[in-house]
Amino acid sequence: MRIGTGYDVHRLTEGRDLILGGVKIDHPLGLLGHSDADVLLHAIMDALLGAAALGDIGKHFPDTDGAYAGISSLKLLLQVNQLLEEEGYYIENIDATIIAQKPKLRPYMEEMIHNIAEALEISKNQINVKATTEEGLGFSGREEGIAAQAVCILTGVYEGSFAVGDSKGCPGCGGRER
Ligand SMILES: [Zn+2]
Repeated sequence: MRIGTGYDVHRLTEGRDLILGGVKIDHPLGLLGHSDADVLLHAIMDALLGAAALGDIGKHFPDTDGAYAGISSLKLLLQVNQLLEEEGYYIENIDATIIAQKPKLRPYMEEMIHNIAEALEISKNQINVKATTEEGLGFSGREEGIAAQAVCILTGVYEGSFAVGDSKGCPGCGGRER
């Protein structure tokens, strides 16, 4: 079992769509970024990559690469899912929090969870998305930006496959006795 955490922040600005969890949110301000700046999906991807020891989204999808300009972060999430599959990891669950003063996000949660479940090929009950405010404090409270945090647990298909119960030790950990 492996745990990962992700954290991301994007600045709010005029003239951009607000996209969270792949859902276009009705709001006069949007998030600034190279991609669609979906701060929720970015935090989730960083948690998944972190748990798999595969670095972060900046490593896989650099913002200097024109291929990712304006791209839907759901497409990047599909690629992260592909990477996890190649490395033999299953997602146990994801828990995420969006930190935003406005707007109210509850009406959009169901659709966000649906999008994430579909991209990652997991059930909706493996994903939880919450939203909170910081009571008007800090950059989120001043509506200068939106932050998101995520944690996830992965299980590796190769976990526990090394000589379990062998008193001579385990080849997977350099012969350490169990
Ligand atoms: Zn981001």
